[in-house]
Amino acid sequence: MIKVNPARLLEDLAALRQIGGQGTGVVREAFTATDLEGRRWLARRFTDAGLRPVWDPVGNLFGLPETEKPAVLIGSHSDSQPEGGWLDGSYGVVCGLEIARAAQEAGLQGIAVVSFADEEGTFEPLLGSRVWSGELALSTLQDRTDRMGRKLADTLASVPELRAAKQVPHQLFKAYIEAHIEQGPVLDDAGEAIGVVETIVGMQHVEVVVVGDQNHAGTTPMDRRHDAVMSFVAFAHAVDEAFCSEAGPATVWTFGRVNVTPNATSIIPGRVDAMLQIRDPDQARLNHLAARAQMIAKGISAKRSVEIRTQVVAELPPAPLDAALAGTLIAAAGRLAPGRWRRMVSGALHDAVPVSRIMPSAMLFVPSIAGKSHCFEEDTRSEDLVQGCAVLSAAIETLLLPGP
Ligand SMILES: [Zn+2]
Repeated sequence: MIKVNPARLLEDLAALRQIGGQGTGVVREAFTATDLEGRRWLARRFTDAGLRPVWDPVGNLFGLPETEKPAVLIGSHSDSQPEGGWLDGSYGVVCGLEIARAAQEAGLQGIAVVSFADEEGTFEPLLGSRVWSGELALSTLQDRTDRMGRKLADTLASVPELRAAKQVPHQLFKAYIEAHIEQGPVLDDAGEAIGVVETIVGMQHVEVVVVGDQNHAGTTPMDRRHDAVMSFVAFAHAVDEAFCSEAGPATVWTFGRVNVTPNATSIIPGRVDAMLQIRDPDQARLNHLAARAQMIAKGISAKRSVEIRTQVVAELPPAPLDAALAGTLIAAAGRLAPGRWRRMVSGALHDAVPVSRIMPSAMLFVPSIAGKSHCFEEDTRSEDLVQGCAVLSAAIETLLLPGP
């Protein structure tokens, strides 16, 4: 039986936290010195655990077992946001490392570990997992630059390990399982220990353009104005009210970028550009809400004699995870954390999204204290970190053992 070692798991998490550590958080943006130091540390830990470290051309770091049969791949990412928490991503990678070691101690082979490159989107969100799964071609991204002005091609060329990079074929693996902190408040509020993710939300980005009539803010009477900001406010409010009554339990929506032109005190604004992001696990509902926003735009355009255009400019379909694998996690959670687990939707994107399109994939969440993440306060109780790893290892054991 695989028995994870709680002290070893927590020690490794603490050691990785030191690399790029700042206050209680970490600063390990993809392909910076701290990110690479963290991943070189992981490569050494893989070797110590009997796994062969292999870097692929986009900088994903795999720890591969010496087995013939397809392995179960466990992992996540170890890069961070410009200011990140110590567990986002790292938890899943270190869980994989610990389970690989514990499995070997139990005489079981067949676990591989991965730290996907640039999950947090320094160059591109989920860069490593999307390139590896074939969703993005690395050749089309060479000129991509990050906010520090680095070019992706130069950045990859500057990592010595990548000179010996090798393609890692998908056929080496039969399944992918990612443990992650929830990054939201649901489990913590409910006092629960485990979330089994059944679907990762899809999203639509709806571009909103409001064209009014730019004019003098002192001399234009109120009844002669076609103020783009006031029309945008009316639109956003109406969208909010309509979505509140038509949303599903997991729908969220955000006006995440609003630009006013010209942005001046004494000019009636002539134009607003904004972006409405909608997330939901159900594609039909996503389509419905985007269409609803368009209807509302038409209504307000007519009423206020302005022009409000909406257009879906980016779209990501929901990613349903593998039901059989989720069932294995559910069975393990029911045994080890009875009454303290639930089925969940993930509102955040993870490496499991692209990977789920090429092999059966599953995800497990542990609670985030007060739902905080992408900040230095991000934290999870030690007993929950250990419990999550134990549930994961119990589920994986059933995958490695020959069936009855
Ligand atoms: Zn993450």
